[in-house]
Formats: sequence, C-alpha cells, structure tokens
Amino acid sequence: MNFATLPLSPQMLQTIESLGYKEMTPIQAQSLPSILEGRDIIAQAKTGSGKTAAFGIGLLHHLNVKKFRVQSLVLCPTRELADQVAKELRRLARFQHNIKILMLSGGESFGRQLGSLAHQAHIIVGTPGRVLKHLNKESLELSNLNTLVFDEADRMLDMGFIEEIESVLAFVPKERQTLLFSATYDDEILQISKRIQNNALHVKTAAQE
Ligand code: ADP
Ligand code: MG
Repeated sequence: MNFATLPLSPQMLQTIESLGYKEMTPIQAQSLPSILEGRDIIAQAKTGSGKTAAFGIGLLHHLNVKKFRVQSLVLCPTRELADQVAKELRRLARFQHNIKILMLSGGESFGRQLGSLAHQAHIIVGTPGRVLKHLNKESLELSNLNTLVFDEADRMLDMGFIEEIESVLAFVPKERQTLLFSATYDDEILQISKRIQNNALHVKTAAQE
C-alpha cells in the first residue's frame, strides 16, 4: 500500500519520500485512512511497526500552522520514549520549519520548560506527570487541542499513570480525536478506550511473537 493513495498534501508525500518510506507498514495501512478522516482508533501492533508515523502523519495533517496554539498532545510513558517520538515528529515536519514541537518530561528543568512554553507550541510530546504539572500551574493550556494521542498506553497503565491521565483529560476539549496505541491489548486498555474514546475503530495487526 502506497502513501500516495492517501489524501495527503504534496508536501507530506514529499517528506515521506525523503525519509525513504516506500510503503505503509501494516498498522499504517490499516489506521491512516481512518485517522485522516478524524476517527478515534485503538491500535495494537508490535514494537518497530511504525506506530509513531501512523499518528504523526495524522496529527500533522490536522494541524493549522498559522494558529499558534497547542493542537496536539502525545502522552508517552517515559522521557526516552517522548524524546524518540518528538524526534520522529520533527522528521515528519522537516519541510515545515514553522511547526513547533515541544517535549515536556520530568528530569528536565521546569523553569526552562516554562520559558519554552511562553513562546507557544503546536505539538506537545510529554510524560503524564510533567504535562499535568504544567496544566495545574497554567503554563500549558489545551482548549484548542484537536488530537490526543496515548502512545504505549499499556506501559503507561503498568507504570501507574492512570490518575495523572484522568486529570489531564479534565483539561482537554470533549470534542477531539483520541488515538490510543498499545503493544498489548487487554481488558484494562479496552475499558479505558470505552471511557475516553468515541466509537473507536479497533485495529489489530499480527500478534507479538
Ligand atoms: P513503533 O512505535 O511501532 O515501535 P516506530 O514508530 O518507532 O515503531 O518505527 C520504527 C522505525 O520504522 C522508525 O525508525 C521509523 O522511522 C520507521 N518507519 C516508520 N514507518 C515506516 C515506513 N512506512 N517505511 C519504512 N520505515 C518506517
Ligand atoms: Mg512507539
């Protein structure tokens, strides 16, 4: 399945080509058409299957660069994962120099993050605890959010982030697209999906070996 079959901008297709992505991975082929339509999805696929580009291409597609407000939030379980996701998103936005992507995780100076937030960002990638801290201190404002992504949702639950996640949800608009990615697919994830997503499409690729 070729990326050109998707209703993407010429610039995005050019970026994808420049990254050397020839074909969509199975998770991308199964989820991207619905993500681009704005549907909620819950997707399960093994590590290394290209989940970041699946939600990254989606959130960049829905982004209004001229609007200097946070429009996408990606929550990740650890600083390392948030870093990787931010890097991949920057690669996907490499020809759109005016898109600002900010990483917010613990283990970094809160004050420096305050400074970066003062200059606005379009996309925030972060860990639940630090993102919540900024929301509580009103240094982060999410009333213009249109895409909320939970990456490695199963790990976030395993690490006990449920309370922080519930609290973050109180700060985001009800009208939004919610994308949930997980390497595993169990009852707990399905329950969360039912609570926080709206008629989510279930996408499952070959089970993990
Ligand atoms: P996951 O989150 O599913 O574990 P990643 O999103 O980190 O996987 O992707 C793994 C690697 O595959 C990354 O290096 C990414 O750049 C690359 N990749 C993503 N999509 C494609 C594609 N369509 N073709 C080739 N490589 C891809
Ligand atoms: Mg990943």
